[in-house]
Amino acid sequence: MKVIVIGAGVSGLIAAYELERSGISPVILEAGDRVGGRIATDEVDGFLLDRGFQVLLTAYPEARRYLDYEALKLRKFDSGAIILKPGGAFTIHDPGRNPSAIFGMAFSPVGTLVDKLKIFKLNKELNKKTIDDIFESNDMSTMDFLKQYGFSEKIIGQFFKPFFSGVFLENDLNTSSRMFQFVFKMFGEGFAAIPEGGMKMIPEQLRSKLHKTDLRLNTQVEKIEDHQVILKNGEILQADKIIIACRPDRLLPQMQGQLKSYRSVYNLYFSLEKSFLAQPLIGLVTEDKFLINNIVFATDVSKTYSINGKALLSVSVVKGVENQESLDQLVRIELEALSGIAAKHFKHIKTYQINEALPDVEDMKADLPFTNSRIFDHIFLAGDYLLNGSVNAAMTSGRKAVEALLLTSQDPH
Ligand SMILES: Cc1cc2nc3c(=O)[nH]c(=O)nc-3n(C[C@H](O)[C@H](O)[C@H](O)COP(=O)(O)OP(=O)(O)OC[C@H]3O[C@@H](n4cnc5c(N)ncnc54)[C@H](O)[C@@H]3O)c2cc1C
Repeated sequence: MKVIVIGAGVSGLIAAYELERSGISPVILEAGDRVGGRIATDEVDGFLLDRGFQVLLTAYPEARRYLDYEALKLRKFDSGAIILKPGGAFTIHDPGRNPSAIFGMAFSPVGTLVDKLKIFKLNKELNKKTIDDIFESNDMSTMDFLKQYGFSEKIIGQFFKPFFSGVFLENDLNTSSRMFQFVFKMFGEGFAAIPEGGMKMIPEQLRSKLHKTDLRLNTQVEKIEDHQVILKNGEILQADKIIIACRPDRLLPQMQGQLKSYRSVYNLYFSLEKSFLAQPLIGLVTEDKFLINNIVFATDVSKTYSINGKALLSVSVVKGVENQESLDQLVRIELEALSGIAAKHFKHIKTYQINEALPDVEDMKADLPFTNSRIFDHIFLAGDYLLNGSVNAAMTSGRKAVEALLLTSQDPH
């Protein structure tokens, strides 16, 4: 059986891996010059720059299934966060770190005692629930969920809003409470981490597990017509089965207009003589008038992100930006206000504008029936947009597409 997988992001790589496991040698067609799709790391001026700040949550069940964490040399974030304000910062920490620490920390400067107890309660509740339970629960916005759960405005504004705006890439916490509970559970049951060699090590490890796959980079698919995959260079490939592991709306006229818009983010990198946080923690900016949502010194988490000993600062801006040309200047001014270090010391390395960072999924799910993966007898879908915007979901979708493909191949009808 000739199977073509379109796209070598995480979902396409998992699909190829699962196909190999069932004895099929697939072809992957990838438009870019590398594997990994939205997970990428560039080497610039001696720094490792992840294209968009992202982390692996070690509790992701699919990541545990497919990744060798030890070989990735994961570097963990400490639990907690630093709340940054002009003229002062404070750390919210749980000194007796247990796996639920990021949310079980001492919240006194941020929330009330009741908030602390509620965090504890939520942690316990989510620990008992399965991921399927969570994604089958009532759907509402994260903001409504937090309010209904009884969290104070203070803790919502000072912690939940900045933290989860950075995770969801939207500022109002309109994202489904299912996703919130899933992410909260994952933080509570594991760590946020980045591989020593940058996030790109994740797709590269998945690629290294493929032994019978014909991976063709720089090969963009233009469209699909029945069993034909038509490339941008005019070449036509024939396939028995096709897995589309990228946006299908751009390849199939029937799918046009079916995907909601994507969320975007700006990710700016600066170098500095040394970190002013000096801890592997995320720094959250709570003031509404600031553009910056969060900052992380990547070199505080993994020194290997810099070969010259300088500190590497990643800044995420989730808000819309009117004047993009002066964004790095504006961010520098904000950094000065937050750190007390003169703006001129922040050396701008690069700005990434990531327009299609996370899919805006209406009905977030953890899993999907095979009928949702199969759109025609011979065409199957994979990609995070089918479930929710996460590495875990991308992996599930790749696995499920292959399950659907195998199931329908066995079915004589
Ligand atoms: C800034 C940012 C932050 C994130 N933060 C996190 C996080 O902290 N934790 C988390 O779990 N997830 C995070 N994510 C989400 C996670 O990266 C994605 O869910 C996952 O990488 C999606 O994988 P995918 O295979 O579905 O899609 P993609 O990675 O988009 O892969 C699609 C692939 O198809 C290729 N392609 C597209 N069109 C064609 C064509 N016509 N022909 C051939 N090839 C084609 C593309 O080049 C690409 O390689 C973040 C994403 C971004 C961008």
